[in-house]
Amino acid sequence: MGIRVPDYIAKLQPYPPGKPLEELEREYGIRDSIKLASNENPLGSSPLALEAIQDHLKKLRFYPDGSCFYLRQRLGQRLGVDDASIILGNGSNEIIDLLIRTFVQPGEEVLMSEPTFLVYRLMTQAVGGSPIQVEQKLFAHDLEGMAAAVTPRTRIVFLDNPNNPSGTVIRREEFEIFRQQVPEDVLIVLDEAYMEFADPASTMTGLEYLNGDPPVISLRTFSKAYGLAGLRIGFGVMPPRVADYLNRVRQPFNVNSLAQVAALAALDDEAFLQETQKVVREGLAFLFKGLAEMRLRTFPTQSNFFLIDVGFDARTVYEAMLHRGVIVRAMSAYGLDHYIRISVGRPEENQRFLDTLKEVLAELASSNDRD
Ligand SMILES: *Cc1c(COP(=O)(O)O)cnc(C)c1O
Repeated sequence: MGIRVPDYIAKLQPYPPGKPLEELEREYGIRDSIKLASNENPLGSSPLALEAIQDHLKKLRFYPDGSCFYLRQRLGQRLGVDDASIILGNGSNEIIDLLIRTFVQPGEEVLMSEPTFLVYRLMTQAVGGSPIQVEQKLFAHDLEGMAAAVTPRTRIVFLDNPNNPSGTVIRREEFEIFRQQVPEDVLIVLDEAYMEFADPASTMTGLEYLNGDPPVISLRTFSKAYGLAGLRIGFGVMPPRVADYLNRVRQPFNVNSLAQVAALAALDDEAFLQETQKVVREGLAFLFKGLAEMRLRTFPTQSNFFLIDVGFDARTVYEAMLHRGVIVRAMSAYGLDHYIRISVGRPEENQRFLDTLKEVLAELASSNDRD
């Protein structure tokens, strides 16, 4: 007998991660490459977090605190919410997965925009649910269109705010109208992975709507602003009655102990956070200026990454840059054939990105002329 797998699993396409540096260098035999593909922190990790990890190494034989007690307490104080509202996860990706596994049955719908973070769609498909995608308008969530796409089968709406890959945010007024249009049995999930980079005046956060109807859930992560992507830790803030269900479904020790102590320390590392925000702000200004001089179309962002219309097939540009040791993200998997997404790097990385892109585009233009 062959193995049997549900149809919806057989049809899944794995998530295409940004290429790791080591893999690139191994495959292409190059060195000193840079990665501006996964929106990681250009400065590294919070030094206080690294110290906390060192200190904790001698305790690795113990299981972690399955309830993340201290971290929930600290986050609760910090965010002004009850700690019963907080669930930590192995990255905020795990919270996305938990929400879908807890609330979505085969045949039910999960609403999201297009383009958006691919994980919402993949996790929905993995439980036999139907991802319903509503085309964005001018690279922003079309909340009116999304409200119109809600059906009796809709269980969850995912909105990344800021949006990945565009970096645009939702305006408070449009969100409040949207919220009134969504039925009370639908969960609205605001994925705020990049909120630390947004101008607070430009948008709202889900924390402001936590206890209303329909409930609004906020997802946050230590992967970006705190530079801990490799440790895997993020969290969701949700009404306690929602958290209670997730706590039944999640694995008892889903967040490892190093991640817990690192996150706790990172929260106190105000200096690292501020330095990160400054480097990103200055890097964005530098890159936008350079790209404007190259006459390339870019889109304003409230995040640490943005889209560039490179005017050629994005995969070709991606490959050519890869050969020169610069990893960016081709947006082809998001249906944006001429777009790349880049994450802000350190000043010297940003300069190298501009130089390399210039070279690659000049080469493509001259080979096009020859055709
Ligand atoms: C990077 C990112 C996350 C963070 O995921 P983690 O699992 O916490 O590393 C979540 N949502 C979006 C849209 C992202 O781009």
